[in-house]
Amino acid sequence: MTAASDPRPALFLDRDGVLNEDHGYVHQWEAFRWIEGAREAVAAFNRAGWLVIVVTNQSGIGRGYYTEAQMQALHEAMLSDLAGAGGRIDAIYHAPHHPEAAAEVYRHPDPPLRKPNPGMILQALAAWPIDRAASVLVGDRASDLEAARRAGVRGLLFPGGNLAEFLRRNGLPHSTIGSDGAV
Ligand SMILES: [Mg+2]
Repeated sequence: MTAASDPRPALFLDRDGVLNEDHGYVHQWEAFRWIEGAREAVAAFNRAGWLVIVVTNQSGIGRGYYTEAQMQALHEAMLSDLAGAGGRIDAIYHAPHHPEAAAEVYRHPDPPLRKPNPGMILQALAAWPIDRAASVLVGDRASDLEAARRAGVRGLLFPGGNLAEFLRRNGLPHSTIGSDGAV
């Protein structure tokens, strides 16, 4: 048996360019397009017993292009659609800050949550029972991998294409469900 508090590997996912097509400051469900294989990949990691956690820079909030509420509404639609495909994201961490943010509340010279800083990953590691050494972050930019490195998490650069196939080529997910079949 695996207790709920036993450490599990986490799949950390960048959002734009990994879960959805990145056409710049995506903030409306109508403009949201899943990356091929993304929903299937999340569901596969769920079944294998991994936590699935999104870590996404959202400087569009700090820049005043859209609001936190608009982002939350997009994420609710995203999670609802994902559930229809049998997938579940356990948590979404976002970094709204930017050095040149319009509103002072979002302005910071080097936002600790904003990748390449590791703040979002470190917050997740503190909040969830995560086996850091077995965890993986998938991002489409060098800044994603830099954040992973600084958090002590293995990083994989997603070159585009089908996300589920990319992860399978990398031997993921390994199942963390006990060999006796107990979940
Ligand atoms: Mg990205």
